[in-house]
Amino acid sequence: MKILIAEDDKISRKMLCKIFSEQQDEIFAAVDGHQAWDILQEPAHPRLLILDWLMPGKSGVEIVNQLRQRENGHEYYVIILTSMDRNEDTIYALEQGANDFVTKPFDTGTLRARVNVGRRVVALHETLNEKMRLLTEANATISRLASTDELTGLYNRRFFNQALEKAISAGQRHHLNAALIMADLDHFKRVNDEHGHDCGDQVLKIFATTLRATIRQEDIAARWGGEEFILLLPHTPLVGAQTLAERLRQRFTQECRDQTSLAVSASFGVTEILPGEKSAPVLLRADQALYRAKDAGRNCVVSVAQKDEIKWPS
Ligand code: GH3
Ligand code: MG
Ligand code: MG
Ligand code: MG
Repeated sequence: MKILIAEDDKISRKMLCKIFSEQQDEIFAAVDGHQAWDILQEPAHPRLLILDWLMPGKSGVEIVNQLRQRENGHEYYVIILTSMDRNEDTIYALEQGANDFVTKPFDTGTLRARVNVGRRVVALHETLNEKMRLLTEANATISRLASTDELTGLYNRRFFNQALEKAISAGQRHHLNAALIMADLDHFKRVNDEHGHDCGDQVLKIFATTLRATIRQEDIAARWGGEEFILLLPHTPLVGAQTLAERLRQRFTQECRDQTSLAVSASFGVTEILPGEKSAPVLLRADQALYRAKDAGRNCVVSVAQKDEIKWPS
């Protein structure tokens, strides 16, 4: 284990280094408080410290006090070594953050045993840190899986709905327009029926890749379900969304032809999200626009503004 030995007295320092270098430890020796403090700034510095109390530059007690103020300051195991042996000195050193206190002259066996306690504590912190790192990684994986669609890697419907609610409330607060595009592959059932499910899956992936390559970073693309996709375009007017949908329509068909030799198209319904609108009517309007695109013969873009919305009798 890495051990920092800070001791200004040359003979004591050599003796301490000798005791611990016999045990396959990696010893960092410091001749005064400043050097010890410099070592503690290095990226992979020791967490097990034997510090003389009285040293030029910084005292061992000052060092431990400052270490405890670091973000992970509790992870150090610090033994203060000193010839000061009054009870109040021990109490003071422990109150400043030392884990243990050994008076000089010390018994080698006792010091070794006390350092071994430190080893166990430092090793425990290392294990805990590693577990925390794995847990953080696992949490990141879980939240990625919970928000993405497995086949296409796009966001899923759950994530999209949350993003839409956030965008709607931000739009309302800042009086900003946004737009929504719903896309549905045309006669997709036929692709599966005539060329197999794997080929169908490949076409879905091509649509997703085309989406990703065409939209802006702040746009959110999701798989809404089966062969339906949805796009949220913040700060975008209806006409801008219409242009994007048209670009997507053309690129997708082109990409599909290039990669699979199949003629597959998609229909697009576009609508605006005006400040103060709720998500349900916006989604309904995008759906109406998409329905009209299908009705108009598919492979086209239809947009419906809020003022043009069809109001179904309730
Ligand atoms: P329309 O132009 O009216 O949209 O016709 P369509 O055939 O695309 O629509 P329909 O709703 O009748 O069929 C959707 C098809 O999408 C049926 C289903 O097999 C296919 N599909 C849904 N999810 C997947 C998937 O994950 N992989 C594959 N390969 N096909 C899927
Ligand atoms: Mg000293
Ligand atoms: Mg569909
Ligand atoms: Mg379809």
